[in-house]
Amino acid sequence: MKKYIVFDLEWNQAGKSGELKDMPFEIIEIGAVMLDEEKTELSSFSRLIKPKEYLVMHHMNQEISHIRMEDLTFEDDFQTVCEDFLNWCKTDDETVFCTWGSMDLTELQKNIRHFNMPPLADGPIPYLDIQKLFSIFKHEPGHRVSLEFAVNDLDIEKKRPFHRALNDVYYTVEVFKRISSAALEKKISFDLFNPPKSKEEEILIFFDTYSKYVSRGFAIMEEAKRNSSLWDVSCYICRKKPKVLLNWFEGSAKSYLCLCNCPEHGLLRSIVRFKKSENGGIYATRITHSVSDDDASLIYAKYEKKS
Ligand SMILES: [Zn+2]
Repeated sequence: MKKYIVFDLEWNQAGKSGELKDMPFEIIEIGAVMLDEEKTELSSFSRLIKPKEYLVMHHMNQEISHIRMEDLTFEDDFQTVCEDFLNWCKTDDETVFCTWGSMDLTELQKNIRHFNMPPLADGPIPYLDIQKLFSIFKHEPGHRVSLEFAVNDLDIEKKRPFHRALNDVYYTVEVFKRISSAALEKKISFDLFNPPKSKEEEILIFFDTYSKYVSRGFAIMEEAKRNSSLWDVSCYICRKKPKVLLNWFEGSAKSYLCLCNCPEHGLLRSIVRFKKSENGGIYATRITHSVSDDDASLIYAKYEKKS
């Protein structure tokens, strides 16, 4: 049986100065709900955390969450609460993390690293980004809205204030329950705090409207560019090699474009982007999707401008 762990974090940040490069946000609250496969609540977790680094509550956080520094004085530190949280998460079943947006798993891992705890994972972590799923559900993929917007849109009763971890989890669960479908749950995201470590761990997934490849991490850009599988385009529908119309060229800083044609499925655009990983290395992503004739003309124009 699959289990879902829907979680949310509240954090504090530095004032005008004193931001720690490795941890811009210090977690001060963890809220979570565990659901079974039918999305029935099994248990919940809610704890405040006494911070160690940012000891003045940033006015933004104060206004948003209404957590005051004095509320945290007698709470446990991050190591204790996070360890309890991770123990609470443990089950014999397959678990899937769910969050509103793409930040929480990354910030959680930054806090874990900062406080010298054992890492959550050594590679990518698959999760469901409910905010992203909501945008797909509304047929506006990529159009990210606030949790409150989604709650209003779906006529969910607003029984609790927003921006406290467990309350936001409660609303995220309610949104998830209403929009969820087997097709939507296939739209898995990956937290890439740790990119794939080896060729075997690299990600290549075919969705119904695009495919995504994530390379392993490399020490330097030149090595990341020499990785031949990065430039190896296939059609996201039939997975066959398409005919290359415009071979890879630099579209903009750190991104490369390629235009192809699948005899069966038409025009395809691939885009490669290079990204810095948290451990200082470089990894790359490649997305391939369909384009219209007009889009293709724009890519031709871009190509001509470059050459
Ligand atoms: Zn095809």
